[in-house]
Amino acid sequence: MQGRVLIVAGSDSGGGAGIQADIKTVTALNGYAMTAITALTAQNTQGVFGIHEVPPDFIRQQMRLVLEDIGADCIKTGMLHKTAVIETVCEALAAYAPKTPLVVDPVMVSQSGHRLLDPAAMDALKRDLIVRATVLTPNLPEAELLTGCTIRDIDDMRHVGHMLLTLGPAAVLMKGGHMDGETVIDLLVTEQETLAMEAPRIDTGSNHGTGCTLASALAVGLAQGLALRAAVERARAYVREALRTAPHYGTGSGPLNHAH
Ligand code: PLP
Repeated sequence: MQGRVLIVAGSDSGGGAGIQADIKTVTALNGYAMTAITALTAQNTQGVFGIHEVPPDFIRQQMRLVLEDIGADCIKTGMLHKTAVIETVCEALAAYAPKTPLVVDPVMVSQSGHRLLDPAAMDALKRDLIVRATVLTPNLPEAELLTGCTIRDIDDMRHVGHMLLTLGPAAVLMKGGHMDGETVIDLLVTEQETLAMEAPRIDTGSNHGTGCTLASALAVGLAQGLALRAAVERARAYVREALRTAPHYGTGSGPLNHAH
């Protein structure tokens, strides 16, 4: 199965994160990528310099037309920036893809510190979107903002992972890259198991778009019929290779390599 993935997220003109990273990832893993673009960002490796919002009705139209005609085996959400967008996306999911697996990457702040989600939208994110997720993929700062907890070590990660599970997703994949140390630990939490996955840290200045890439790699795996754990393992391997072979483009935080 090729795997059709609908990506509902923002565009990154620099090609490193957002929709561009998502399409590259899904395509590299032999899936079929479709998009409902929520916002255009003007950005490069140095940061986000402008955001041009797409009206919610037009986001809904993109989702409806794609889902009614082509269909999707998995849907992945990224930057949704404000309450009205989250509500519209959730309505469209309920109307056109109520049973399709959903990977929610709770994008909040860019590496360069630019807000990509209105803080007032946190409630809608939890109440309307996370509750229906198949997999929620927060990094540590996002997991902290969603729960109000501080994460210092793996025990904190386990605790917060279980708290996030109570918000309603079937699984939580918490990405440990923001914690200091030579080893990076990602944690997969479901009702049945808690699995810590370790790997040596790959030291590179080029890690812009890592979160989008992991979530999309996971989404295409689920779309292709892989079981959750197999999809997570393949996604982690894809990101590691993309980091290890990243080109050093730009003067800031560079993109990953999707042509490996
Ligand atoms: N820009 C867009 C459109 C994004 O969706 C994201 C992250 O998901 C980012 C920027 C931030 O990427 P990073 O945290 O790697 O800078």
